[in-house]
Amino acid sequence: MQILRDLSCFFRAHWKRYTVGIAFLFLIDVLMLWPPRLVGETVDSIRNGSLTTAHLTESVAILLSLGIALYVMRFIWRYLLNGGALILERTLRERLFSHLTRMTPSFYQRRRSGDLMAIATNDIPAVEQTASMGVLTLVDSLFMTVLTLGVMMVTIDWKLTLAALIPMPFLAWSTAYYGRLLHERFYLAQEAFGEMNDHVQQSVSGVRVMRAFVQEDKDVDAFRRVSEKTLERNVNVSRIDALFDPTIAIIIGFSFLIGLGYGTYLVFTSSISLGDLVAFNLYLGLLIWPMFAFGWLINVVQRGSASLKRLSEMLIEEPDVHEANQPVTEAKGNSIEARHFTFTYPGTSKPVLQDLSFSLGEGETLGIVGRTGSGKSTLCRSLLHQYRMQDDALFIGGVAIERLSFDALRAKIGYVPQEHLLFSRTIAENVAFGKPEATEQEVLRALELAEMGRDLMQFSEGLETMVGEKGVTLSGGQKQRISIARALLMDADILILDDSLSAVDARTEERIVHHLRQERAGKTTIITAHRLSAVQHAQLILVLEEGRIVERGTHDELMLLGGWYAEQYRRQQMEQDVVGQE
Ligand code: ATP
Ligand code: MG
Repeated sequence: MQILRDLSCFFRAHWKRYTVGIAFLFLIDVLMLWPPRLVGETVDSIRNGSLTTAHLTESVAILLSLGIALYVMRFIWRYLLNGGALILERTLRERLFSHLTRMTPSFYQRRRSGDLMAIATNDIPAVEQTASMGVLTLVDSLFMTVLTLGVMMVTIDWKLTLAALIPMPFLAWSTAYYGRLLHERFYLAQEAFGEMNDHVQQSVSGVRVMRAFVQEDKDVDAFRRVSEKTLERNVNVSRIDALFDPTIAIIIGFSFLIGLGYGTYLVFTSSISLGDLVAFNLYLGLLIWPMFAFGWLINVVQRGSASLKRLSEMLIEEPDVHEANQPVTEAKGNSIEARHFTFTYPGTSKPVLQDLSFSLGEGETLGIVGRTGSGKSTLCRSLLHQYRMQDDALFIGGVAIERLSFDALRAKIGYVPQEHLLFSRTIAENVAFGKPEATEQEVLRALELAEMGRDLMQFSEGLETMVGEKGVTLSGGQKQRISIARALLMDADILILDDSLSAVDARTEERIVHHLRQERAGKTTIITAHRLSAVQHAQLILVLEEGRIVERGTHDELMLLGGWYAEQYRRQQMEQDVVGQE
């Protein structure tokens, strides 16, 4: 019952609800003991011939009012205990969600999103079940059993009661054994479910690529395999599940057998009356529910604890990037400096960036270029402090990045990632994502600066056009420009555009760069690009190769140098001329 201990915080916080609910359960259990006694007495009085109409009416009236009272009380405990469990479900889900928002990219690299969703949608309800039905059955079956057995021993016959209990140790042993098996199997089943979820998620989001490569049939096959595995593991769970009830039924059957056999003998020897025997059997009947409930409890608790284990494994993961103990809450100045900065991704051994040193003055523009995979995006991400990194190597406004508070750093930087992501909302909401209070004018202006104004006119609903699954499908270049508008609206001191102009044509790029230079005069901008014309105006251009700076300077200096940059630039100019002539 470790799980109940793990959840004890929650029970303590909602102790009133649980106390009242459980009090009603107790009350019901006590009241339930009355009818068998009443019936037993009635049987005896029929046998003695002492039954009067008044007596019978009284018994019937008592049974009737008990029925109504139990009806009301059962409603109350169900309402309280199940309600409590729903609150627990919400609490756990919120905790999981806020945990997920705190985690860094390396966490998401390790965890598959389908599995994360399986935990939220499948494991949390299993924990909830434990907190509702689990608590109920634990309290109820224990109390009911003890109480009923007590009454049987005291009011009927203790020897008969003990005899009827002979099969019980076997019940305890078998449920414990099944329970252990169930725990292991349910954990595996949930794991398989997570895997299946992940498969669906990837197939749905990658459906176009799949079609393009005519991989539908293969994917259906692959899905069949995961779903087969899920099925198999769940069937394994059901096998154990299916053993519980028959085992309990057979044990209860034995109890009845002993009760009836030995009981009849006792009636013959006049140790107990016939009415006692009837009452005894009715009491045994009362024990059926706690026994089943007990088996069921083991079942629910094992599922709940397997799920809680999956959930806890997730919740104990700490983000691998921590805020400094006494962080600097405001970075003054927008200069950027790197001093022998070397970076290696967690879990890998080869540094991706090596010994980078450069400095960028306040309000200047930095261009980062180089072959694909040379580390441009990594350098951008490093400035966002998304990964744990070397101390005292990267500075913003003279403060080391790891000394800055997360809020200060994030408020400082506007970022357009290479993989742009738009939410399934309107264009206006997407642009105003970081600044929800922005006016329509501001949003429109940001879109115009990002050269998205003309495209917007094509959409009949303008700013209110829905993007994504349920809305219009945007081109790559349109998505890029909306992402740029989103960052421009933030008007951050430092703007990072990671390959953000790759999907627009040269002329549009030229106009966006022109707007950037006007708008961001006095502010720092970092641009990475493959088309060198996008960084031509920068005060400092770095050429990266395999994580090292191999050339640096302004456009003119680099052209004079005659290295990779100069060669690349000439080639691109030529290509453009060819395209221009066509
Ligand atoms: P591109 O021009 O294609 O965008 P890039 O210059 O931005 O390339 P990066 O994305 O910074 O290159 O990648 C640099 C190197 O780091 C690559 O070799 C890549 O395999 C590696 N890398 C990138 N992201 C990770 C990660 N999360 N974990 C481990 N290695 C990574
Ligand atoms: Mg990149």
